[in-house]
Amino acid sequence: MFQKNVSLQPFHTFGIDVKTESFAPFHSQREFKSLFAQAAPPIFILGGGSNILFTQDFKGTVLKNNIRTKRIGKSIQNQTLVHIGAGVNWHQFVRWAIRRNLGGVENLSLIPGTVGAAPIQNIGAYGVELKDVFAQAKCIVIKPLDHHGQHYLPGDFLTVSRDEAQFGYRHSIFKSALKGKVVIVQVSLLLTNKNHIIHTDYGAISKELAARKIKKPTIQDVSDAIIAIRESKLPNPKKIGNSGSFFKNPYVPIKKYQELKEKYPNIPAYPIDDNTVKLAAGWLIQEAGWKGYRDGDAGCYDKQALVLVNYGQAKGEEIWQLAQKIQNSVKKKFGLLIEPEVNIL
Ligand SMILES: Cc1cc2nc3c(=O)[nH]c(=O)nc-3n(C[C@H](O)[C@H](O)[C@H](O)COP(=O)(O)OP(=O)(O)OC[C@H]3O[C@@H](n4cnc5c(N)ncnc54)[C@H](O)[C@@H]3O)c2cc1C
Repeated sequence: MFQKNVSLQPFHTFGIDVKTESFAPFHSQREFKSLFAQAAPPIFILGGGSNILFTQDFKGTVLKNNIRTKRIGKSIQNQTLVHIGAGVNWHQFVRWAIRRNLGGVENLSLIPGTVGAAPIQNIGAYGVELKDVFAQAKCIVIKPLDHHGQHYLPGDFLTVSRDEAQFGYRHSIFKSALKGKVVIVQVSLLLTNKNHIIHTDYGAISKELAARKIKKPTIQDVSDAIIAIRESKLPNPKKIGNSGSFFKNPYVPIKKYQELKEKYPNIPAYPIDDNTVKLAAGWLIQEAGWKGYRDGDAGCYDKQALVLVNYGQAKGEEIWQLAQKIQNSVKKKFGLLIEPEVNIL
């Protein structure tokens, strides 16, 4: 049932001390429907709280997703469907899959949060994105909506397939047309059960595997290597509050990139297509002089400028002000707008 005036500090990775007027966890689709019918609006769906910055107390009801079912479905040739409850911890799911020799998500090891939130921003790391394995998401509608010519009312079920999900870089239909209108209750993913496709060509994976003297890596080896790399680079939210990358990497037209390259010959860039290049927001922030900056308990992490951190007692508003200062200074120096990846509340 609902608890009143609950601190959200233990339920999100920035560790900001904010409260919600009302709070309830749900453990099944049925329990969600019943709580949703009684909850005082506005309603906010919370997963692992690893992609949120609370800048103020929440005046409404937070419903926390704790649906933790896992089911192995059909296999067709070398692929197996799995159906995972949206409240399952993402990394625990990855390790569960690896133990069952199911591949495709090992490069996404150690990303915090829940399975249900993974399609929302199409989580990605080390050359793999959620979209590469996504089959469909089962949702419950929470606000009336039209989808493919059909009208849905609160309480209705809606299934979103891979073709409908409009995946892009840190983007999906759940961040546009379906934003705030559905809760994802189950995600189905298509994993390999043999002949796994091993991706080791991104970042420091091959270097880490070589240091471990592994020549023919298994999915477990790739996962272990990525865990080690991530642990050495990213702050552990249990020790230093953060939400991972605070900003998205900007996509720019080739012409803009060429102008910048003349001025900054070392600027890192990743080609996206013939006309577009992805730049590294972390590099831009670092060059603008913010890496390691600290004001009170709000800071820009000293090992990775893309991560903003709460060293202890920072208020959400202070982190947000720092983020805006960084945004403005990158805009001034490079003429580029870096947009937050984190949801600001
Ligand atoms: C240390 C660290 C490293 C990270 N590394 C990466 C990385 O490498 N790649 C990457 O892509 N991300 C990364 N992230 C970001 C984060 O882990 C992902 O965005 C993750 O998917 C968020 O999941 P969550 O359950 O915590 O979502 P939350 O933060 O709880 O919610 C995020 C948003 O999704 C909504 N939401 C959550 N669950 C549901 C649901 N079931 N139905 C409908 N809406 C829902 C919420 O309302 C909110 O708007 C990192 C974060 C941290 C702290």
